[in-house]
Amino acid sequence: MARSDPLAQYNAKRDFKLTPEPAGKVAKGAGNRFIVQKHDATRLHYDFRLEVDGVLKSWAVTKGPSIDPADKRLAVRTEDHPMSYADFEGVIPKGEYGGGTVMLWDRGTWAPIAGKSAKDIDKGHLHFALKGERMKGEWLLVRMKSRPGEKRENWVLRKVNDAYAGGTDDLVGRQLTSIEA
Ligand code: MN
Repeated sequence: MARSDPLAQYNAKRDFKLTPEPAGKVAKGAGNRFIVQKHDATRLHYDFRLEVDGVLKSWAVTKGPSIDPADKRLAVRTEDHPMSYADFEGVIPKGEYGGGTVMLWDRGTWAPIAGKSAKDIDKGHLHFALKGERMKGEWLLVRMKSRPGEKRENWVLRKVNDAYAGGTDDLVGRQLTSIEA
């Protein structure tokens, strides 16, 4: 039933005859992957995705992640993506939804901090740890109050001050390549 299909929105937005992106099917299993895709679309952004219940919960981080705990990076919630998207790199044709180049920028595993759970995403406040190639340590995703009439969900992605934090290090400026390269 469409009502319970978390990927209905993903599939509805795309014409799979025209885009090289994978069609959406909910995966089995309870993995804990995370990925970041640098997406050079109309506006450059970094798609941050956490595996939860067979799909990738997703946020578009306009400026990309910062390891400076003082930086609050806007992360706009986007539709759940299929697990098969985790390996996707390629060019979405101009004129199609998200047209532009998608590059795998980071990947690894994630876990909620002790005592927390992925259900905290529904509550709008997730404290979690990443073991990626580029993003490491503890992070926070926090939903902001929406303004009247605002349809999109604005969240903030922020580094927690730990051994992996760095005040002046420009992570997205320094890491310009695909992790597949
Ligand atoms: Mn995107």
